[in-house]
Amino acid sequence: MIGTLYIVSAPSGAGKTSLVKALVDTVPGLSISVSHTTRPRRDGERDGIDYHFVGAETFRDMIAAGDFLEHAEVFGNAYGTAISAVQRQLTAGTDVILEIDWQGAQQVRQAMPECVSIFVLPPSRQELDRRLRERGKDPEEVIARRMREAVNEMSHYDEYDYLVVNDAFGHALDELVSIVRTRRLRLVAQRERLAGTLADLLA
Ligand code: 5GP
Repeated sequence: MIGTLYIVSAPSGAGKTSLVKALVDTVPGLSISVSHTTRPRRDGERDGIDYHFVGAETFRDMIAAGDFLEHAEVFGNAYGTAISAVQRQLTAGTDVILEIDWQGAQQVRQAMPECVSIFVLPPSRQELDRRLRERGKDPEEVIARRMREAVNEMSHYDEYDYLVVNDAFGHALDELVSIVRTRRLRLVAQRERLAGTLADLLA
């Protein structure tokens, strides 16, 4: 039984990371892929759990060795999804979620067209602006840059299979849960899962 590969993208401020964490806590058989990045570790982040933090040279070697399913530069740092862990989990029948940007999403669609992609939107420009300011007393140009980056990410919304608006957290979570549960009910998945029952019913 092969697992399903999910891509979840969103601008910062949409609440993607908390939603995805809640999704894997709600639905069994789902795991979040841990990306590699050259970005410095932030306070509270753990190596190997939030990211695999690596140097630029290691990252380049991994690209050269063909270790990445996708990789991209986001806000001046390199990010990538190592193919080995993803393949291992999918082969074991676990569904895997990639939290990646639109550039990585395009590469994954090319390599694995059967993947399912979801874009998480904030409910409004005003609310996004509020969330981008929430992080502290940042200068106005930093807020403006974050907004430009968010708009750039959101401009790719129509490349995705599903759109989820994160207005009320619980509602957005329900919608993500519905997407995963519905995918698992598709004929191709159920035929395999129910092989014994179907054989028995049709005997
Ligand atoms: P942050 O540094 O704030 O954790 O993430 C910044 C951005 O990088 C987010 O938009 C996130 O989706 C993206 N990102 C994180 N990991 C990956 C990855 O493995 N590949 C790609 N393409 N983007 C990633």
